[in-house]
Amino acid sequence: MNIAILGATGSIGLQTIDAVRSCISDAKITVLSGYKNMAALAPLVDEFKPEMVWVPDDEAITNLTELTNHPCEILTGESGLIACAAESKAQVVVNALVGRAGLAPTLAAISAGKNIALANKETLVTAGELVMSRAREKNIRITPIDSEHSAIWQCLNGSQERDIEKIILTASGGPFRGWRREKIAAATAKDALRHPNWDMGAKITIDSATLMNKGLELIEAMWLFAQPLENIEIIVHPQSIIHSMVQYKDGSILAQMGLPDMRLPILYALTAPKRTQTTFPRLDFLKCGALTFEPPNLKNFPCLALAIHAAKTGGTLPAVMNYLNEWAVAQYLHNKISFYDISEIMDKAFGIYKIKPVTSLADIHEAEGWAESFVSKI
Ligand code: NAD
Ligand code: MG
Repeated sequence: MNIAILGATGSIGLQTIDAVRSCISDAKITVLSGYKNMAALAPLVDEFKPEMVWVPDDEAITNLTELTNHPCEILTGESGLIACAAESKAQVVVNALVGRAGLAPTLAAISAGKNIALANKETLVTAGELVMSRAREKNIRITPIDSEHSAIWQCLNGSQERDIEKIILTASGGPFRGWRREKIAAATAKDALRHPNWDMGAKITIDSATLMNKGLELIEAMWLFAQPLENIEIIVHPQSIIHSMVQYKDGSILAQMGLPDMRLPILYALTAPKRTQTTFPRLDFLKCGALTFEPPNLKNFPCLALAIHAAKTGGTLPAVMNYLNEWAVAQYLHNKISFYDISEIMDKAFGIYKIKPVTSLADIHEAEGWAESFVSKI
């Protein structure tokens, strides 16, 4: 299997490499991309000897070539990332990029006829309708890496759509679950970066603290599984053992469980329906303690309420929300705004933005342009 890994130096990228290295003996990695961390990218280039490597600019090329011996094509810029998604010998592209940067390579991979193992949920939040319809036209398989979506996919297991009553999307609740609103209001990025169950990149860790991550995942699930909003219920399950569930029309519920380890959904996204032999730690029910459930607190976590509104409204609103959230999270990570400023920025924008239907990529770009000009005035 030839695999292109976009975002190889990130949390999902490195776990993909770990899973591939230890479990898929016939894998060949044809593409690797990094962004700022050339010291992390260089040893991967030397180990896997890809055809193509992507880095952001010429300075990064200089830095990388000083650290590696493998001669390969090194591309830069957005067009280079698109070429990496489309032009290597890979049959499957792992999209482990973070944020809006993931959309163009996803579309390029689809056009080039490559299957996609998708971690980059922002792709589907921004342009779910376009991405899924293009994938259908080209008969492309988009397999989810997000653990909840992998769980739902495994629980669906080829079932008839008419038999599904609802999807139960589980959420850990993040590091501020159960905190008083005043305490959350004063929480810094450093506090938010301490996730109880998962070790992830900075942006998704903040999204988990605001519960925006669950809102993004709600929209991701609507597109991936062609389900209306009212068929998806969000339930907080702090232990992150049940990764999500599907309830059928007879009342029967299937759950997918396991220790929180992203290598499991990554492997399944690459090899399904085949199961791979692993030596990863196993869940022991006699040691894992009680599994508990509670409703999400929309008052303390208004980002989730905003995302539900965007999911219900549709059109270009999710793309605007995604842009604003990404911008606000970056500001929060730099201690420039406070926790509740993230939702307030979106709330303000939602009040004045004129939503349009999405008929083409140009509509998405226009919506993001509006969001860009909105934040430039803050
Ligand atoms: P991360 O920040 O650890 O890694 C992101 C990768 O993308 C890095 O390789 C980085 O160099 C690269 N990158 C960042 N900005 C870029 C840009 N503008 N252009 C090109 N490359 C860029 O993020 P992550 O935690 O690995 O998350 C990746 C995606 O997977 C996100 O969409 C996230 O929501 C999703 N996801 C992550 C996890 C997890 O456990 N980490 C779980 C589920 C879903
Ligand atoms: Mg998830």
